[in-house]
Amino acid sequence: MYKTKAYSAASATSPLASTTIPRRAPTDRDVQIEILYCGVCHSDLHSVRNEWSEFMPTVYPIVPGHEIVGRVTKVGSAVKKFKAGDLAAIGCMVDSDHSCPECKVGLEQFCNNVTLTFNSPDKHETAPVTYGGYSDSIVADEQFVLRVPENLNLAGTAPLLCAGITTYSPMRHWGVTRGKKVGVVGLGGLGHMAVKFGHAFGAHVVVFTTSPGKKEDALRLGADEVVISRNTNEMQQHTGSFDFILDAVAAEHDVNAYINLLRRDGNLTMVGAPAKPLPVAVFGLIGRRRSFSGSMIGGIAETQEMLDFCGQHNITADVEVIPIQKVNEAYERLLKSDVKYRFCIDMASLKSE
Ligand code: NAP
Ligand code: ZN
Repeated sequence: MYKTKAYSAASATSPLASTTIPRRAPTDRDVQIEILYCGVCHSDLHSVRNEWSEFMPTVYPIVPGHEIVGRVTKVGSAVKKFKAGDLAAIGCMVDSDHSCPECKVGLEQFCNNVTLTFNSPDKHETAPVTYGGYSDSIVADEQFVLRVPENLNLAGTAPLLCAGITTYSPMRHWGVTRGKKVGVVGLGGLGHMAVKFGHAFGAHVVVFTTSPGKKEDALRLGADEVVISRNTNEMQQHTGSFDFILDAVAAEHDVNAYINLLRRDGNLTMVGAPAKPLPVAVFGLIGRRRSFSGSMIGGIAETQEMLDFCGQHNITADVEVIPIQKVNEAYERLLKSDVKYRFCIDMASLKSE
């Protein structure tokens, strides 16, 4: 065991502040990484403030962060994929049971015994729960460590580990390809990655935003059209026309307004995870055999596929790099939809704490 620097919150109402945490010494199968950048996901904020208490109550202190890139500092004797000095990345999971039907088909995110990167029971008992990426070092099972394409900007790569895979996976699953009309609801961290992927897959991408000031950016990011979702007339012009809509909104909102924009057999997938239930009008679904579904991150093999795709197409997140001392301010800005389009912590700033 060794100690390392981190930022943690002591309660749902406490700000994140400097601390030290224990990490296990790497076992034979482990990779130890010096964290260089960690993205700030809205899920970090939901968890720090215990907004998902009904589904995954937060254990304090919490160290959030699951968009991690860094350099390998040490590997266990059985590790094959990595050596010291390599670039490496960790997303939302650090372990699973490796043996259940979900793990066997590469859908580790749905394993009943998945270990999430933070706030999951720690199998190794280094601490009561796992601690995430707002830290200068992390240790994980090799199988959950991803290779990073060498050509990508590192700060812009970190958000691919959650915002990237969470949007890539459902778009692949629901067949987003050339000729399809695809909607993206909410131009935040996840939404802006969905726009980039939709564009790269050749679809006609329409962004729905509550922020008129994001229109130019949406077009620059690859959208073909932008709809201000609070304008009912603009919304109605798209009735019954979408093959697929990805909803990445973090707060309560009316999903029926979007379900009505789907064509026959169209699908709306929720990746946004507001804490409270969203009412769904059944008549919006049955009339045109539409479906309403959800999706959670993606498996490890698909995450590597997504990173390699990003390497080939030079896709990274648009990031505002911040020192860790600004993370509480960044959370307040997320709540105001003031994000362009992912905050990313430069972990060098933690060294001065
Ligand atoms: P984010 O960067 O804060 O973006 C959310 C965007 O939603 C905002 O920028 C805003 O876009 C829009 N929005 C916010 N409040 C709204 C409201 N009241 N009504 C309508 N639109 C609103 O958040 P994120 O990091 O992308 O995460 C989005 C959600 O996905 C969160 O709930 C997060 O926990 C969840 N998530 C889920 C998974 C998964 O595996 N399913 C993975 C990661 C994150 P505009 O300004 O364009 O309106
Ligand atoms: Zn996330």
